[in-house]
Order: sequence, then structure tokens, then C-alpha cells
Amino acid sequence: MVGTGRETDAWAVERPGPMATRPLRLVRKAVPDPGPGELLIEVDVCGVCRTDLHLAEGDLAPRAPGRTPGHEAVGRVVAVGPRPVGRSGAPGPGIGDRVGVAWLAGTCGVCRYCRAGHENLCPESRYTGWDRDGGFARCLTADARYVYPLPPDGRDDAETAPLLCAGIIGYRALQRAELPPGGRLGLYGFGASAHLTAQLALARGATVHVLTRAEQARRLALELGVASAGDAYDAPPEPLDAAILFAPVGDLVPVALAALDRGGTLAVAGIHLTDIPVLNYADHLFQERTLRSVTANTREDGRAYLEEVAGLPLKVHSVSYGFADADRALADLAADRVTGVAVLDLRV
Ligand SMILES: [Zn+2]
Ligand SMILES: [Zn+2]
Repeated sequence: MVGTGRETDAWAVERPGPMATRPLRLVRKAVPDPGPGELLIEVDVCGVCRTDLHLAEGDLAPRAPGRTPGHEAVGRVVAVGPRPVGRSGAPGPGIGDRVGVAWLAGTCGVCRYCRAGHENLCPESRYTGWDRDGGFARCLTADARYVYPLPPDGRDDAETAPLLCAGIIGYRALQRAELPPGGRLGLYGFGASAHLTAQLALARGATVHVLTRAEQARRLALELGVASAGDAYDAPPEPLDAAILFAPVGDLVPVALAALDRGGTLAVAGIHLTDIPVLNYADHLFQERTLRSVTANTREDGRAYLEEVAGLPLKVHSVSYGFADADRALADLAADRVTGVAVLDLRV
């Protein structure tokens, strides 16, 4: 622990910038002590998300120097902090339990958003890998109330880690897109989140059209059973009831809106988007088409998603990197060289 001077390996964002400038450094950090209500978790696998890339490259302003990214961590509880004074309720995970640490790391619990069930909009919300050190490290601490218990379910850790952000955010985006039962869904961009969301939508009976520039991603989409896969700027073969924009490309907003049927909804899933060009009211919004954003997720989203996919035979197309190659994983993600999901496997 800190007092004993124990140290651990962690990746840190030293100077945010393009991946070519090597913004990440592998450093030694003190093993954190779990504070009241916190858990110390040894990381087995951590997924690599596009948000980690935004943090490394500085698209999201750093909230502390030397922050460790990573918010799809699957690991085991190795220490439990003291019970906070006055906190009631069921005890959280205990030593030895398998758990997941995701993006939402904390909220105030008392503001109007928190009280109304919209904790994802809490102005005091904190995030793993941005406000707290994340899972690109051998261990991390997390607030036990924001950690997902992951009882063994036969799914490997490398297939479970990507569910914690790519999966949960895709789930929320699909809810926000208000896809009617059996409806026609367009997915713009086909990375980690989209390939999981496609499988969720297909399991719910949707017809899915994928629109993305990457040839390999189109092939993966067709393998997973989508109805069509074309270029991002092509029109889908039929009008869409709902669409989700996963690519962080504002230019695609009018393209996707124009592909919607009357009354359709476009949800923008990303935390970062390049500028949206001027919209034309008649072409893009009239006839009650709706444009909406997706902001993080609530813990309820996470619980509901993990429960829904527990019995689904998800094909998680993952590319595994050793812990020492976290910067290479992010560089590959930046250069669109990852088809599916990149994960850091700390077990090897
Ligand atoms: Zn709040
Ligand atoms: Zn993420």
C-alpha cells in the first residue's frame, strides 16, 4: 500500500497530443489505498476505447496531469476500504470477486438530475481515466457503488471488458434512437461499440444497415448478420426508422438525417464530434425527424445491458495487446487499424 511504498506499473498521459508524439508513458505509481467505500482491484483485462484516444490526444482536456486512462477494466477485488460513516445498504463486492470498472466513476447523488434518474447528466459526475486513474494499470481503486459485479458466466475477460463501455454506450444509444420493434436501424461507423450494438439490435429483431468507409469493418458487419453494409456517404437500401452515429464525424450528421424515414431519430453516440455542417430544414429535420445526443450512461443502463446480453451468444471481435503495448493499441485505433475491439490483456 502507499504507506509501505509499494509501486505498480501504469500508463500515464504525460503530454496530450497526436499519437505520433507518444503522449503516453509507462510509469511507476504508488499502489493506491482504497479510501472509504472504495475497492482496490487488480486488473486482468482492460478494453481500449476511442475516448481513451481522445484523452491521450487532448480532444478532451486533461483534468489532472499524468492521468491513467482505461475505463473497461475487468479484474478482481484485492482490498476493500473502510465502510463510510453513515452509509447503509447492502455491502458491495468483497475480496476475490470479479468486477468491472466502467466510465461513470461517481455522481453527486443529490442534484435534480441524479434524483430524477438521469445521473449521466449530473454536473458533478466523474469519470474513470479522466477524473480518476483508470485501468491501463496493474491495479486501480474505484467507488464500490459504481463497480459492476461480474459473476463468472463463461465469457472470457477479454470478451467481457468491451461490454463495459462499447457495449453499455451502444445500449444507451440504441435506447435514445428509439428504434421501434422490428424496425430498420442504420449504424454509421462500425468500430467496437457499433459491432456490439448491431448484435443487440439483431437479437431484438431489427433490420440493421451498416454504413462505414472501412472495407474490413463492412465484411465483419455482414458476417454478424446485418442486412447491408455500404460506404458511410452512400444511401442505405431503404429509409431508416432510427440511426446511430458512432463515427466522430460531424459531416455525417446531415447524411444520416437525410437517410431517416419520416419520424425517424438519429442519436449521436460519441463524446466528441467534429463540427456539424449547416443543416437544411426540409432535407434534414422536417417531417419530425429528431437529432439527439448520448451522454455517458447511468448505472441502470449498465445493469440492464449486462443482464440483457448475459444470455446472448455475442461475438466479440477483439484484438489483444500485451500491457506493454498500450500506446501501440491506441495508435492502431487512431489509424483505423483495429477491426472490432482492442483490449489490453494483463494476464499474458
Ligand atoms: Zn448529481
Ligand atoms: Zn469508452
